Amino acid sequence: MTNTPKQPRGTPVERISESQLREMISFILETYPDTMSLRKRFQRLGRDVALTGKRGRNPWSPSYVGNAYYGKFADGRKASPEFVKGVEAIAARIEGAPVPAFLLASRKASVRTWEGNIIDGSFVMGRSVLCATPGCNATFVGTVPWRKYCPGCRPH
Ligand SMILES: [Zn+2]
Repeated sequence: MTNTPKQPRGTPVERISESQLREMISFILETYPDTMSLRKRFQRLGRDVALTGKRGRNPWSPSYVGNAYYGKFADGRKASPEFVKGVEAIAARIEGAPVPAFLLASRKASVRTWEGNIIDGSFVMGRSVLCATPGCNATFVGTVPWRKYCPGCRPH
């Protein structure tokens, strides 16, 4: 994220522009799993933002989040200050979140998976195993350590 200078505490917070809000919302939406539809992401964001403030378990609707994202509120209305504050809080939390040490010590690997099973960047804790079928060169990371055959040789 860019263009959000830190304000000293106690000074009045300037309202961010619609494009800044949109930028922050899309920044947060990108952190949700690729498998989520845009509407599901709006729904999730509405819930996450509500949890940062007084609304708690009373989420903003997906269409409200969509209106904030597209700058399409009726009658020139704008997203509520409480909503904007929540979006800012989440964006700041994501940006400032320290990377866990085990992730720093890890490396990226390219893997194959069924649609929706693995989210990019997920840490895989298992080890690659060569399929036990003679002549099958498939390697896999099983869901249990005692698995010996790839899904092609033994589907279950
Ligand atoms: Zn195999």
